[in-house]
Amino acid sequence: MKADNFRKLDPYVPGIQPAFADMIKLNTNESPYPPSPKVIEASERFNAADLRLYPSVDVGPIRDALAEYHGFDRSCVFVGVGSDDVLATIFQACFNSGRPVMFPEITYSFYEVWARLYNISVKKIPLRPDFTINADDYCGVENGGVVIANPNAPTSIAMEKGDIEMIIRSNPENVVVIDEAYIDFGGESVLDCVPKYDNLIVVRTFSKSRSLAGARIGYCVANPELINIIETVRNSINSYTNNRPAIEMGVASVKDEEYFRAMLAKVIATRERLAGELRALGFSVLPSSANFVFATPPAPLTAAEVYDRLAEKHIFVRHFKIPGIENYLRITVGTDDQVDTMLYEVRQMLKK
Ligand code: PMP
Repeated sequence: MKADNFRKLDPYVPGIQPAFADMIKLNTNESPYPPSPKVIEASERFNAADLRLYPSVDVGPIRDALAEYHGFDRSCVFVGVGSDDVLATIFQACFNSGRPVMFPEITYSFYEVWARLYNISVKKIPLRPDFTINADDYCGVENGGVVIANPNAPTSIAMEKGDIEMIIRSNPENVVVIDEAYIDFGGESVLDCVPKYDNLIVVRTFSKSRSLAGARIGYCVANPELINIIETVRNSINSYTNNRPAIEMGVASVKDEEYFRAMLAKVIATRERLAGELRALGFSVLPSSANFVFATPPAPLTAAEVYDRLAEKHIFVRHFKIPGIENYLRITVGTDDQVDTMLYEVRQMLKK
C-alpha cells in the first residue's frame, strides 16, 4: 500500500494508566473519591437488557438535567463523550475561517492536536513569566477563534472573570471557548455570561469534580445557534454518543448537590495542605484553583528525578518534557493518606 493513503499525526499522549494494586495515582487529575452513592444506585438499577436499544439521540435526560441545574433552556446545552469529545466537535464546527485559532503556548496540549487533525492554523501566545495569561494578548489581534482553559492546565492558575469577558467582547466575530474542566475547584465561571455573548461557549466535564472520568461525560453551554452548529457536526459523524448507563449515572450525579459540594470541599482542603507542605519543603508551587498543583522542586532535586523516584515507589505524578515547564511536576490532589505517602517519599529524597 502507498504511504500517501494514510494520515500522519502526533496524537495527544495522556498520563500513563498503570495497573499496580498498590499504586497511588496522582497523574491524570481524576478524583480520589468515588462518585455519589446516587450514581452507584443508578448503576445498580440499570437494566442491562435495555442495552439492546440505542440511547436517546440528543442525550435527552442528561441534557435536561444539566439545563435545569444551570438554569438554561435545553437548546443551550450539548452533551458529549467527555469534554474531549465536546471540544473536538467544537473545533470542527466553529474554526473554519482559515484564520488562526489562538490559545496559550502552555495549556491543555490536546488543543493543538485537534487543530492539526482538522487542518486549523494556530497562533500560540506565550504566558507571562509567572505563568499567568495576559488577556491583552487576545484582544485586537486577527484570529479565527480563541480557546482558554480556566483554570489553565497544567499551570492550575485561574484568570480574572473581567479579563475573560474582555477577550469575549474583543472578539465578537469569532467563537471564544472557555474550557472550565477545573472551575468547580476554584476561579470564577463565565457560565452566567452565556446569555450576554453570542460568541461564548463554556465547556465542562464530569471527569474531575463529579468523580466520573470513567463514564466519559462532558458538555458545553452556549446560545442555541452555536449549539445547533455543533450538533450538526456531531450528527454528521455519530448520532448516538453517550451510552445508556452513562446517561443515567450522569443524571444521578447532577441530582446530588450535597455530595458534590462535600467532595469538592475535601479536595480543596487537601490541595491547600499539599501546597503548604510542598512549600515548606522548599518547592515553588503556583497558586492553584484546580484539583492539582504545579510545582518545581528545590535544587539540586529536579522534577525528572522526583518523577522517577516516585514512580519506583508506584506513586505516579505528571512530568511534561516541554521547554519552560520541564522542571515542574503536576500533582493531582489525592486523599489525605495518598498525599501524605507522597510527601513522605519526597522528604526521603531531600534527606539524601
Ligand atoms: N480540558 C482540560 C483542560 C483537561 O485537563 C482535560 C483532562 N485531560 C479535558 C479537557 C478533558 O477531560 P474529559 O475528556 O475527561 O472531560
